[in-house]
Amino acid sequence: MLAMFSDAVDVPDDVPMSVVDEITRHTPGFTAWQQDSWLYHCGDGAAYLGPAGYRELQAFPEALAMLREDHQRYGWTQPESEDFLRSLDREGEPTAYLFRCLHCGMGLASWDIG
Ligand SMILES: [Zn+2]
Repeated sequence: MLAMFSDAVDVPDDVPMSVVDEITRHTPGFTAWQQDSWLYHCGDGAAYLGPAGYRELQAFPEALAMLREDHQRYGWTQPESEDFLRSLDREGEPTAYLFRCLHCGMGLASWDIG
């Protein structure tokens, strides 16, 4: 039943449609790209903490690890990945987007590939 929606948004199967609905309707400043980049954990939508640079991400090693995994999936080498992570800037380009799971508290991050 999530199939149609999942075409547009990468939502895990264990996240109820009502959660996605809640996020897309009730999040202030919500934009289209964020719908694509929203992160989920423990079967629920994560809380968006805001843009983050490398400095901010260092407080969330799990979030950094997530970004490295993403890069690997895109075929980046490890030095390329580290260069990118160090160039992340909270107020500039590129920027990462920091989330935190409301249930287990794990830090999560997405990034703008541009
Ligand atoms: Zn969690």
